[in-house]
This record gives sequence, C-alpha cells and structure tokens, in this order.
Amino acid sequence: MIHSHIISRRNFIWGLSCTCGSTIFLTSCTEVEISGRKQINILSDDFLYSKTFPAYDNFKSKSNLITGTEEYNNIVDIGFNIKDAIGVYYANKGEKNPTDNFQWEFILVNDDQTKNAWCMPGGKIAVYSGILPIAKNNDGLASIMAHEIAHAVARHSAERASRAMLMDAGTYAFERLVLGTSMTRHSRQLYGQLRQLGLELPFNRSQESEADYLGLVFMSLSNYNTQESYLVWERMQEAMGGSGQTEFFSTHPSPKNRIKKLKEWIPQVSKQYPPVKI
Ligand SMILES: [Zn+2]
Repeated sequence: MIHSHIISRRNFIWGLSCTCGSTIFLTSCTEVEISGRKQINILSDDFLYSKTFPAYDNFKSKSNLITGTEEYNNIVDIGFNIKDAIGVYYANKGEKNPTDNFQWEFILVNDDQTKNAWCMPGGKIAVYSGILPIAKNNDGLASIMAHEIAHAVARHSAERASRAMLMDAGTYAFERLVLGTSMTRHSRQLYGQLRQLGLELPFNRSQESEADYLGLVFMSLSNYNTQESYLVWERMQEAMGGSGQTEFFSTHPSPKNRIKKLKEWIPQVSKQYPPVKI
C-alpha cells in the first residue's frame, strides 16, 4: 500500500509546511481569512459538512437542550449578529464570504457542570449552560461565540484533519483523497481516523491564537465590547481558582498569554475593523 515511488515521506512533510516548494500540494495550500496565514487543507467543505452536520444532529438528539428562555434567545441573537456582520464585511469589500455555505445553528445545552462551547465546521454551534456565569453578559457571550466561530471560518478542523491524515495515515490517504481511488477497507478506517485525529483533538497553539484574533475582529465588526474578550478569560481563571481544569481549558490552553495578546490587539482591531452597518 505504500506508494513510496509516487511520493516520499519527506515530500509529505515538505508539502505540509506549505512553503509550496513542491508542486504536489500547491492546490492544497489555502490562506486563512483575515490573518492571511498559509494553511494546508485537502478536505472540501462539502466533505467535511457531510460528516459534521449529521454528528451535530446526533448530538442534539442526545442532549438536554434549553429553548425559549432569555438566555437561549441571547445566544441566537448574538450568533446571527456575528453572522450578519461577517456577511456585510465581505460584501463591502466585494470579496467572497467564507461563511456563505454555513448552515448556522445555535443550541444551548442544559449542563451546568460543563464550562464549554464549540462550533463545528459549517456554523453548528453549542453553548453549555455551565459557561454562562463566566460569559456573564452578552459581550462575554459574544466573545466566546466569536472565538468558536473563528475556528470554523479559519477551517481549523479541516487543516487539523488534513495534517493528521497526511502525517499519520500516510500514502493511502493520498491515494484515497487526492488520487480519488475507490473506497477500500483502509479508506473506511481513514474516516474513523479523521474523526478521531482531526475533529476531536484540541486545536493547536497557533490556531488558538488565530481564533482569538479573528474572534476579536468578529466582535468588533458586530459591535460588541472587545474588552470582554480578555475579561472572560480572567473570569475563567478565577472560576477555576487558578489550578483547576475545565473542558474549555483542555482545548484552550495558556490563558495568561492569550489575555496579554488580546489586550495588545484590541486597539488595532478596533481601528481596522470598526462595527459594520447592518
Ligand atoms: Zn479555541
């Protein structure tokens, strides 16, 4: 199964670096919105959504959801404000909106023990009731949601999955996904790996930092108070007494450093990305 005559592992790594010195992955190098960082992505949105939308539906069917409350309505309002602001921003620039193919959905999970929130690729968002005291107000909630939305806009899951598949699944990922050969037992296993390796692992440090920055931009565009971005992290630290772990911390490391960065970015982001008129 190892097609070392087609491509060596060294070339894989070379391609992964996205320097595009090799032509093999030239078409897989994309640029992250706003940040401009080069990323590797061999997965189409359609492919990814075909996996994540059913997973979201499944999650919903198994969860205790809160609807019809003020808190739930706030989440939906904030979500649509951010969605609209992103749309207007790209329309004003005459550029393609990276959320055009999103199918936005927002749920509030009735789970006070879980201090967490996430956004699946394609704009499928979940907020757990446990994080609401830390969000504290609508600006804080907007900060958390904008950060999660940023991961989806920046295609971080696809990037993570692409890297995992290229590095760990090796050449048969290449065979299945790049050469487009027929479905084999191995490629079915690969989809399992995609879920495990790509979609369920924490985001890495550079993706986290990028989501913090993009999240700040989205907050500013949709006219929320960007100061809350770091105040949320301070409240999160306080809630944990400085030593505890939460689900959110397990996937969102180094709060101290990100607080510092957010404070540094706020003046520049406020100036460069003022609120859009909706
Ligand atoms: Zn994150």
